[in-house]
Amino acid sequence: LLEVTDLFKTYGTGEAATRVLRGLSLRLDTGEMAALLGPSGSGKSTLLTILGTLMKPTSGSYVMLGEDMISADDRALTEFRNAHIGFVFQFHNLLPDFTALENVIFPTAVREGRETPAARARGRDLLSRMGLADRIEFPSANLSGGQKQRVAVARALMNSPELVLADEPTGNLDRDSANQVMDLIGQINREEGTAFLISTHDEKIAGFCRRQIVVGDGVVTG
Ligand code: ATP
Ligand code: MG
Repeated sequence: LLEVTDLFKTYGTGEAATRVLRGLSLRLDTGEMAALLGPSGSGKSTLLTILGTLMKPTSGSYVMLGEDMISADDRALTEFRNAHIGFVFQFHNLLPDFTALENVIFPTAVREGRETPAARARGRDLLSRMGLADRIEFPSANLSGGQKQRVAVARALMNSPELVLADEPTGNLDRDSANQVMDLIGQINREEGTAFLISTHDEKIAGFCRRQIVVGDGVVTG
């Protein structure tokens, strides 16, 4: 699915420079379900941002689905990202006045300039699979934290991406809601073959993943 080789990322310059990634290499296969572990400040979010093509590394190579992500221009990257990568963050960023369904289909509708029946059907299906069949038309402001995060997962899956990058998706949830979100992610992974890379501080959450990737000192250490 993707391969990064010898990634370096330094924030700032001179005295203030923070060298976060220092020659990190990683391969992720199609359909993998992997946890990204490492101490706070080790560069997990930095790596996810680079893999999501939202930021370029200082140096190193990145190839996804056979395409060179380093030399691609911003327009090509945006198009690639929209087609192939989904994101889930710790803070769901749902639009509070919109319903669960509107939140799921809105990004696609805005991009395409229209809202198709097929998109609505896909959105409904995803929300049902996230256990939210009875919350489809609910204003998202009235959903619980776990429900909001499940809406965010459905939103990330809307365009059937090959890869979903999730940065501490259960960081704000209690144990039961976190487990439920991970269960549902695992189900999607098995049914749709979507690859997930999920950063977490929580060993139990990592236990839902078949592979554990540990980052430390700017490289993969395990
Ligand atoms: P956490 O587990 O706390 O989320 P993390 O592993 O995700 O940590 P990053 O957020 O990738 O770590 O940060 C790695 C290092 O880079 C930290 O020392 C952080 O302060 C620094 N850093 C991150 N983003 C920036 C930025 N935009 N400018 C300067 N420094 C940054
Ligand atoms: Mg982080």
